[in-house]
Amino acid sequence: MGSLTSKNALVTGSTSGIGLAIARAFAAEGANITINGLGDPGEIEKERVAIEADFGVQCRYSGANMLKGEEVTAMVQEAEKAFGSLDILVNNAGIQFVAPIEEFPDDKWEAIIRINLLAAFYAIKAALPGMKARKWGRIINTASAHALVASPFKSAYVSAKHGIAGLTKTVALEAAQHGVTVNAIAPGYVWTPLVEKQIPDTMKARNMTEEQVKNDVLLAAQPTKEFVTVEEIAALSVFLCSDAAKQITGTTLPVDGGWTAQ
Ligand code: NAD
Repeated sequence: MGSLTSKNALVTGSTSGIGLAIARAFAAEGANITINGLGDPGEIEKERVAIEADFGVQCRYSGANMLKGEEVTAMVQEAEKAFGSLDILVNNAGIQFVAPIEEFPDDKWEAIIRINLLAAFYAIKAALPGMKARKWGRIINTASAHALVASPFKSAYVSAKHGIAGLTKTVALEAAQHGVTVNAIAPGYVWTPLVEKQIPDTMKARNMTEEQVKNDVLLAAQPTKEFVTVEEIAALSVFLCSDAAKQITGTTLPVDGGWTAQ
């Protein structure tokens, strides 16, 4: 029996990267999972089937678009109905765009706030009543070191992630006496498609080569000089769902190789 047997979890943005690793780690502990995200339908179906086959749990997929509040709400309601409860919610879906603020496209700024911050509000609003009624719940928000410190050219992302840290604290206080903890994880640079994709834009914005962006921009901030792994983020997520973590709430926990210690 895994530590999350009989629990049902929803992880947004789990067709790739950190979210997929968290979903697989929860499944490995026995939780049924709703995965969500964009991508090639065939690839997503392969991931869904693999989770069921590898861990002997039920896994369903929601194609809800995190840009749209009503789709987020429906996703949570459907997940709760399908498995009979929603015990663990991970707000992880996120996008990035890098540009000086004077040139930042309005639609990109708004999309980052919608996906990285507003979607978490809609999902928490829909999920919390059931968690409170059952007197047990875990909400984890994937924030970022950029929830604690800023970097140039990332105004939308830094604003959204600082917002997530505030949302985490506020909901933690509201849920504190209901058996529900609310925390954010603040990774430094994790090697995922999101990081890989921002390299060309950073090269352009800073007039640098790929090697310079990796060493002088990305890992420049990370004293260990190593990328964080998705498995390390997933392991902390599993711990936050344990009973041993029940007094940890309202926090934004850095997993950043020492970045925010500086
Ligand atoms: P990723 O690009 O690998 O995964 C992002 C996920 O979000 C994918 O499943 C994608 O389909 C989904 N997504 C994007 N837009 C969506 C939409 N409109 N509707 C539904 N799903 C959508 O990136 P990742 O690095 O795994 O990022 C996951 C989270 O971790 C993000 O919130 C990101 O800000 C955060 N984070 C990442 C790093 C890093 O270095 N990779 C560092 C700190 C924080």
